[in-house]
Amino acid sequence: MNPLVVGNWKMNGTLSQASNLAAAIVQGTSQKTPKAAVVLAPPATALGTVQERIATSGISLAGQNCHWEDNGAFTGEISPAMLADLGCTYVIVGHSERRHVFNESDEITARKLAAAIRNNLRPILCVGETLDQRNAGRTMEVILRQIQFALKEPNENVIANLDIAYEPVWAIGTGHNADPSQIAEVHGAIRSHLTNSFGKASVRILYGGSVNAENATDLGRISEVNGLLVGGASLKPESFLRVVRCFDDE
Ligand code: PEP
Repeated sequence: MNPLVVGNWKMNGTLSQASNLAAAIVQGTSQKTPKAAVVLAPPATALGTVQERIATSGISLAGQNCHWEDNGAFTGEISPAMLADLGCTYVIVGHSERRHVFNESDEITARKLAAAIRNNLRPILCVGETLDQRNAGRTMEVILRQIQFALKEPNENVIANLDIAYEPVWAIGTGHNADPSQIAEVHGAIRSHLTNSFGKASVRILYGGSVNAENATDLGRISEVNGLLVGGASLKPESFLRVVRCFDDE
């Protein structure tokens, strides 16, 4: 599978800003198709506008979050069926801001993941430890627990339609990315767990946490890094495009 680069715009951008950003990214990928598959996750309000801009470009659309039901009395929520209706083919599930700012549990994350699959969305399951958990030597335990919970009722459909992003909480938005040995260790453990549990799976394992134009090439070369999830640097077309291009052959 091609590497995957995801731009998570978080809660940023008016419609005109989202439209301009998407147009610049389409323009920057139009001359030469990047080796990486590109996914944009704008705020929900801009999904329709961005979808219009990226139509026919080969770039895919993602929701940043979804509910676990397809419809119902859940004021303010957006269902995976609604995301699919808007043209999304991916959805981010279990982002650390959902887990830690909005207190979403492993159980809720598992239900969202199942709902995404049920609606033909490819979930990008985010996992990662806090600094306290890392300092206490609990990194692997936390990450494998998050994965086991999310995949507690796995079937072939789930395993064939899933990507995982390792995003250490302490590296998100801090300017301090994890170092290559930390990333290789965690990605290797996730890959071993997947292989032991499901055999050879087509799951990509992305790294996320302060990825930018300067560090992307080195991060992308680490063993078992099959893509990058980019927050802050995805809001500037030049830096995001340099991250996307880091997987191109030299
Ligand atoms: C993220 O939001 O998933 C993320 C990795 O953010 P940043 O790149 O800004 O650290």
